[in-house]
Amino acid sequence: MKKAIVIGAGLGGLSAAITMQSKGVDVTVFDENPHAGGKMMSVDSEGFHFDFGPNTMTMPHVFQQVIKQAGENPDEYFTFQKLTRHTRNVFADGSELWQTADEKSMIRELDRFGPHTYDRYTEEVRRLYTLAESHFFHRTFRSWKDYLSPSLAGAMAQVRPLESMDHFHRRFFSDERVLQVFNRYATYIGSSPFKAPATFSLIGHLEMNDGVYYVKGGNVKIAHAFQSVFEKKGGSLQLNTRVKRLIVRNQKAVGVELQSGETVEADFVVINGDFVTATRSLIDEGDRPTYQNRKLDRFHPSISAFVMMIGKRERIMDLPHHQVMFTSDYEGEFRQIFQENRMPEDPTIYISHSAATDPAVTSGSNLFVLVNAPAAEVNPERYKEQIYERLLQKGVNIGAPDFEKVIAPQDIARQFSAYKGALYGISSHNLKDSFLRPRNGHPDLSNVYYAGGTTHPGGGSPMVVLSGLNVPFSGE
Ligand SMILES: Cc1cc2nc3c(=O)[nH]c(=O)nc-3n(C[C@H](O)[C@H](O)[C@H](O)COP(=O)(O)OP(=O)(O)OC[C@H]3O[C@@H](n4cnc5c(N)ncnc54)[C@H](O)[C@@H]3O)c2cc1C
Repeated sequence: MKKAIVIGAGLGGLSAAITMQSKGVDVTVFDENPHAGGKMMSVDSEGFHFDFGPNTMTMPHVFQQVIKQAGENPDEYFTFQKLTRHTRNVFADGSELWQTADEKSMIRELDRFGPHTYDRYTEEVRRLYTLAESHFFHRTFRSWKDYLSPSLAGAMAQVRPLESMDHFHRRFFSDERVLQVFNRYATYIGSSPFKAPATFSLIGHLEMNDGVYYVKGGNVKIAHAFQSVFEKKGGSLQLNTRVKRLIVRNQKAVGVELQSGETVEADFVVINGDFVTATRSLIDEGDRPTYQNRKLDRFHPSISAFVMMIGKRERIMDLPHHQVMFTSDYEGEFRQIFQENRMPEDPTIYISHSAATDPAVTSGSNLFVLVNAPAAEVNPERYKEQIYERLLQKGVNIGAPDFEKVIAPQDIARQFSAYKGALYGISSHNLKDSFLRPRNGHPDLSNVYYAGGTTHPGGGSPMVVLSGLNVPFSGE
């Protein structure tokens, strides 16, 4: 039986592990953390539950597919609940706009904000999604040449790669507040809407045509389900175990050395850890001519996050499941993050409050507060006070928290070995970074594959899971 090692038990690693297992490979997964799921991590304390990582879920079929291919029934592991009216957006002038996947209601909502062509918008983002789904999502890339096939080149030309997301949205919406709402999708791939290609506006198809989902009992149930299925089918998951390096012979990985000094042999290796950090630390520079340190140094990290998880014993009744409070200066916010490499002065604040949908999941209220941050060191105490102040100014009076936990970019870097704390590895600010994300197949080591949010096809959790589903190794 062929043997595979997966380095990292994030969603991408577990998805790859179950996929290979289903094709007759004997799989061992190592993760340095005490839990499986990587950034999809539950924080449970004093009766409060928080989903760290993915709070806004889309594309449920992708997660279900991982379970199905193992011959199991996803319904026995998790239940997706659709939130049709999903996000309340609050603007600097106090006005509000609800996003809903019900087109008629959405048009009524947008009519209050001046001229728009929402029906054309939904058509166009559906078109972008369909093209990406048939040409990009299910492919793995090993070299530049893979991009030169005529069908792919044709598809590339049609997904608006040269237009910015902001420019694209201006075709359909006139009000600056509405533009903020749709431009925020660039942050889902860790980038700025003024630089990210319009291609990524396809995220609008997922949220606005299809809807936002929540997993009953907490989104983290997906990671628990992946772990259960993998172990039930005989996979070996070794937590609290750091892989130190790949053992390479004749341009092939033949195994790994663990931090403890133990060595483990394998026919295939899947790297789920952050692309830049893992490539640099796990593979000797001599074994990776394509990814020399000089080249790795040139990559720009994607956005990071400053997160506060706040528990209140009493339920805050008027806070919905998803709320975004926008800055008055969106361009300034992105400039401060990406060009000046500092925390924004007047940040857009996102709050996820899953207790609004699922009161049984937590005691009282569970506020997951997220602010976009540069991939850099941040002073948590100072910035935390600034966020509380901003929330108060924006009419959210939390009072004294009953529970509080702060996670800054440097904590993300440390806990998940993430490049400078970036959530999605490399930013998608130019054509090359967007479409030539690190390829899944290692260009120098033929039996090494990257699965995860820092590689192709992208950083949102469904894309991460797809990269695992696309793993090419099998037992035959
Ligand atoms: C705050 C936050 C909010 C987010 N919000 C959303 C959202 O709303 N919707 C959405 O779809 N996505 C969201 N995401 C993104 C999503 O969480 C990630 O893209 C996804 O979980 C990443 O999965 P992954 O498999 O690529 O890697 P990870 O989850 O990073 O897992 C990789 C694992 O490998 C381990 N590892 C690395 N190197 C080694 C080594 N040498 N030895 C052993 N183990 C190693 C790491 O510690 C980690 O546990 C969010 C992320 C964050 C952090």
